[in-house]
Amino acid sequence: MKSEKLFNESQNFLPGGVSSPVRAFQPYPFFAKKGEGSRLWDVDGNEYLDYCLGYGPLILGHSPEKIINAVYSQMQKGTTYGVPTKKEIDLARMVVDKVPCADMVRFVNSGTEATMSAIRLARGFTGKNKIVKFEGSYHGAHDYVLVKSGSGAACLPDSPGVPEDTTKNTLSAPFNNEEYVSELIASNGSDIAAIIMEPVMANIGCIEPRKGYLKFLREITAENDILLIFDEVITGFRLSEGGAQEYYGINPDLVTMGKIIGGGFPMGAFAGSREIMEFISPCGSVYQAGTFNGNPISITAGLNTLKELDSTFYRDLNSKGKYLRDGIQGILEDNNLDFSLVGLGSMFQIYFNSKRVYDYQDAKNSDIEKFRVYFNNLLSNGVFIPPSQFECCFLSQAHQKEDLDETLEKIEFALKTVA
Ligand code: PLP
Repeated sequence: MKSEKLFNESQNFLPGGVSSPVRAFQPYPFFAKKGEGSRLWDVDGNEYLDYCLGYGPLILGHSPEKIINAVYSQMQKGTTYGVPTKKEIDLARMVVDKVPCADMVRFVNSGTEATMSAIRLARGFTGKNKIVKFEGSYHGAHDYVLVKSGSGAACLPDSPGVPEDTTKNTLSAPFNNEEYVSELIASNGSDIAAIIMEPVMANIGCIEPRKGYLKFLREITAENDILLIFDEVITGFRLSEGGAQEYYGINPDLVTMGKIIGGGFPMGAFAGSREIMEFISPCGSVYQAGTFNGNPISITAGLNTLKELDSTFYRDLNSKGKYLRDGIQGILEDNNLDFSLVGLGSMFQIYFNSKRVYDYQDAKNSDIEKFRVYFNNLLSNGVFIPPSQFECCFLSQAHQKEDLDETLEKIEFALKTVA
């Protein structure tokens, strides 16, 4: 097996054989050769229907012709300039038009940079230091937020190398629990700069906010001069043109974006009202900078991707999501399987848990061993989903009805194996 050989070799040069931890699934990850549409091929010639989609960015599927051509033509004119381009204005205008809370945008290079910078901005704007995050949410790999984080490993152990002094200002709360947040604010309110949250928790599986929860958070933060930051690195341009804030009708003060906005290339962004965003340097004094910020390759890919995303696009994409989820629900019922299907729009996951999942504790009660068997069975039958119970599966425009029917057959087989 070429993948196995490459994994053995890569471990000599890359810690754990990979460039990011969740990729190191057992016994060895397959090594990609090419991706096209809804499918991936590995170096051994195996073909997979892909529901990982690079962990979310590829909403148009792999290597869409329009994006490839636009990027190719940009590359011939230069790959980075160190001065602004008109395309940055075009993409920023598009973000402002689509995303309700956005008046102004700063482009960065990853979701991690976006949340790191948005938190600094919230602290600079409010003059306060503490932030609140939710248990099992993931906001990237930087020090401020590596506290009870989700992503792949369920709740990451707080990492060595993160000084206590850095995280002493990061408070955490269980998701979907109004009382806990009320008490936290009652005892720390005057020191809290921001609540940062994934409006749909997609790094612990897929957990929706309870009805009224986002409204509650919006009101309590506004009453206490706390900024509400929606981390929409996953939900941004995934749930609707305006992301989760449009989907649920709740506007945060700041939004962080990543994944889809880069059209398959590395990019992040954060945005908010003019009043807050003008605190960012060089306009204001909250420092933020980057050699590759707004680089023309990612901007071109993002611009051409976002051009495709209108209400018809989401109607079609989300109806594919519904078709797949309805199919899975039917399989669960027909086979008397007591697992919990979750998801919305073009997102889904199955918890090997008979109870509805509302927070990190519920998610952790899922049967990880059953998930492992399910994942391996799907993989050996040509369906690639993220290799962890605590990630979310995605669909793309490229997934056709035949793909979904094929997937449902394979999911049924895998679920029966687990039962
Ligand atoms: N925020 C959320 C909600 C994410 O899911 C991720 C990554 O998965 C990040 C932030 C970090 O983004 P990146 O991996 O681009 O740094």
